[in-house]
Amino acid sequence: MKKQLEEMQRYFENKILKGEFELITIDKHVAVITIDGLSFSIWISNGHEYVETYQSDYNTIAIEFNNKEGVYSAIQKAILVHKTKEPCEVCDWNKSKVGIVTCKKCGTICPF
Ligand SMILES: [Zn+2]
Repeated sequence: MKKQLEEMQRYFENKILKGEFELITIDKHVAVITIDGLSFSIWISNGHEYVETYQSDYNTIAIEFNNKEGVYSAIQKAILVHKTKEPCEVCDWNKSKVGIVTCKKCGTICPF
């Protein structure tokens, strides 16, 4: 079991390092991402030394990262893309596979 968990952690970490994930929501402290339709919340506050999966309902599994700096910079890159979405007048809500509702156009989280 332990070996399988380790393999899963490396699989998901490598996906993040390659940028093969979708940034769903982000605030100052936590980024929620999806990989293969599975969600993970990652603590991104206080710099790359502190990057870790954050205790929350969105976590599929906890990942112990080997390359925290790489994970941190991959998420920073995704934030830039995320922020370039256009602000919109009327949001177009879209429920993701993991049940988080965000606007397709501006990327905000649905407040309802
Ligand atoms: Zn919107």
